[in-house]
Amino acid sequence: MLNYRNALGEMPSYDGVERDFRIKVNANESTMNLPPLVEERVSNRLGYLALNRYPNEEYDMLVEQIAKNFGVAKSQALLGSGSSEIIEKVFHAFGGAGKKVVYPQPSFSMYKIYAKAAESEGVPFDLDKKFDLDVDAFIKKIREVKADLAVICNPNNPTGNALAVAQIEEIAKSIDCALLLDEAYVEFYGHSAFGLIKKYPNLIVARTFSKAYGLAGARVGYMLAQEDVTRMINKTFMPYHMNVLSLAAADIVYQMRDEFVSRIQMTIAERQRIFEQLKKLRGVEVFPSQTNFILIRLEKAATLNEYLESLDIGVRHFSANAAGLKNCLRISIGTRIENDEVFAAIKNFLHKV
Ligand SMILES: *Cc1c(COP(=O)(O)O)cnc(C)c1O
Repeated sequence: MLNYRNALGEMPSYDGVERDFRIKVNANESTMNLPPLVEERVSNRLGYLALNRYPNEEYDMLVEQIAKNFGVAKSQALLGSGSSEIIEKVFHAFGGAGKKVVYPQPSFSMYKIYAKAAESEGVPFDLDKKFDLDVDAFIKKIREVKADLAVICNPNNPTGNALAVAQIEEIAKSIDCALLLDEAYVEFYGHSAFGLIKKYPNLIVARTFSKAYGLAGARVGYMLAQEDVTRMINKTFMPYHMNVLSLAAADIVYQMRDEFVSRIQMTIAERQRIFEQLKKLRGVEVFPSQTNFILIRLEKAATLNEYLESLDIGVRHFSANAAGLKNCLRISIGTRIENDEVFAAIKNFLHKV
């Protein structure tokens, strides 16, 4: 008999199904690879790395760039292998037996899993019918259960909606415990709350290169917080947890982030265009989005998902036990051609049933 650690047996697996699709709009990735100019510079850079050395210098260079851009000290930024690693470490740092973590539901499915992994008690807080967060009730809940960590995903995955920065400030100000703000999609929203870290020592902001910057394969994310917080969180990472290839790629991408502005704008414009089109379909509920995806709800979601799969189109279908997401599908925004094809397929399906 193999004696695994206690929480592991009951810990759910991440249920994202990975399969290749002709049109893959199921994971909110960028459907385009890096802009050619950026790709060329990344390739060149990867050609002269000191692979025999631990990646101190490359880590420092990227942290320095990020800190400079946000106008904070280098000691206030940490990098992770995707923001996933950051989030997991934050759950770990504020977790353990007897600790509690409050997060909205539905939101990023991994919060529940990281809570379990940290042996904390996960306390989901239900969003309302329109997937809005009742900020006052959320604050009340955090205080009531004496949470050690609260989490907000803004804009929220998979619902797409966002809180105003003032609402986030209200939460940060009203609770004593740590507040992790997951801003994975903030580039498609345009309103970051990172400026609040100056004022609120409990606030931690997590960001990623995986969505707007099309670097999901390299696994790079970062967090910003006050120095005392980063010093503690930093203890939870392995030494040299970032690899030099990813660091170098992200360093170039960050230097050249202006090259991504037009793509981000295109994605936002496409999101609005597809949103308006989807809204015209009868029997489909469409949720407004500030991200690079749109959530829809329809009675025949499972059948539509199968139909799309038969056309080699992959969207995200939520399992029956995903709270609040019954009959929901999440569709990432791709290129104009991809979006048109996905929309035409949905429309076609609705005509047939
Ligand atoms: C995609 C995503 C992340 C993490 O992405 P990484 O690739 O690990 O940086 C974190 N939070 C949310 C809500 C996401 O959707």
